[in-house]
Amino acid sequence: MTRLYREVIGWFEANMPVAETELHYDSPFHLVVAVILSAQCTDKRVNLVTPALFERFPGPREMADATVEEIYGYISSVSYPNNKARHLQGMASTLLEEFGGIVPDDVEQLQKLPGVGRKTANVVASVIYDKPVIAVDTHVFRVARRIGLSRGRTVLKVEEDLTRGFPAELRPKAHHWLILHGRYVCTAIKPKCEACGLAPWCKHFRKLSSSAAESAAGEPASSAE
Ligand code: SF4
Repeated sequence: MTRLYREVIGWFEANMPVAETELHYDSPFHLVVAVILSAQCTDKRVNLVTPALFERFPGPREMADATVEEIYGYISSVSYPNNKARHLQGMASTLLEEFGGIVPDDVEQLQKLPGVGRKTANVVASVIYDKPVIAVDTHVFRVARRIGLSRGRTVLKVEEDLTRGFPAELRPKAHHWLILHGRYVCTAIKPKCEACGLAPWCKHFRKLSSSAAESAAGEPASSAE
């Protein structure tokens, strides 16, 4: 393990010992539903619609038997409700037809479900089955690259780097560490670097600091453009 990964893990273990999904769910099926709904949408908004949705559709049978229009009625306030309603109905049907109604624990199998891409499959496999995989969403992608845990330019490359860098037993947790840090501290616009405990190891922070020092000294900042 590199020194950077060791330091970052040490900081998270000391400062964020508990790191879990903020989506509410009460069964593997409902987690799949919630993660599908969370694409391009906040967990907060998803958590507002899922209580009534879960009550009406306690399992895949009820959802598979429903019409897309009925499902839409429960999720109209999340982003892309038309597509997501179609995906949910298709996911529930496929789950029944191909997996006996049981959410599979394998990332490749999970991706056979409509609406479930690689990121969603990784989230479900790690949260429900504690599989040693790391889902890379927009927060994980940004934070990993800023700190310097990956220089990858694609989601897959960042996933590969993080998978190599974090030991298997920490990968499910590392995903939540990076998401939560990205959501509340290392935000896309105006990251809160002055309040960030990871600043001593962060590549992006070093770059910002040296630019500021150059500007103060009257020299042209290297990344001013
Ligand atoms: S120092 Fe700034 S850029 Fe680096 S991880 Fe912290 S908030 Fe993000």
